[in-house]
Amino acid sequence: MSDCIFCKIVAGEIPSKKVFEDDLVYAFHDIHPLRPTHILLIPKRHITSLAHVGVEDEPVLGRMLAVAHEIAAKNGSVDGFRAIINTGRIGGQEVPHLHLHIVGGGQPVGPMLTKVQ
Ligand code: AMP
Ligand code: ZN
Repeated sequence: MSDCIFCKIVAGEIPSKKVFEDDLVYAFHDIHPLRPTHILLIPKRHITSLAHVGVEDEPVLGRMLAVAHEIAAKNGSVDGFRAIINTGRIGGQEVPHLHLHIVGGGQPVGPMLTKVQ
């Protein structure tokens, strides 16, 4: 996708602070970190969201879940982390390239969600 900012990051056309890369995935620091550890882990190939995946995407989705703990531990979250995938309008997704937020640090991340009345 030529106009996708995360595709441009994978291609090196937009700078990023890379922390991990392999044949399927790329990980970099979130530009506006919400916790001391805040990494984005993305498929190298453009996938718009978790609502756009099929069985052909199982290898990359599995890779993302399999490498997340190592990325968290190597970037300051050694005792666990939270993995978040915002999806579509309801999920509050802002960047339309599938990404797994890896958030953590030295303190617990906090409550999962606050209840909407
Ligand atoms: P989401 O709301 O789940 O789509 O999250 C998008 C995330 O991408 C936000 O946390 C942004 O801070 C982050 N972000 C947007 N542009 C960049 C960029 N160029 N480099 C790093 N992170 C970015
Ligand atoms: Zn993309």
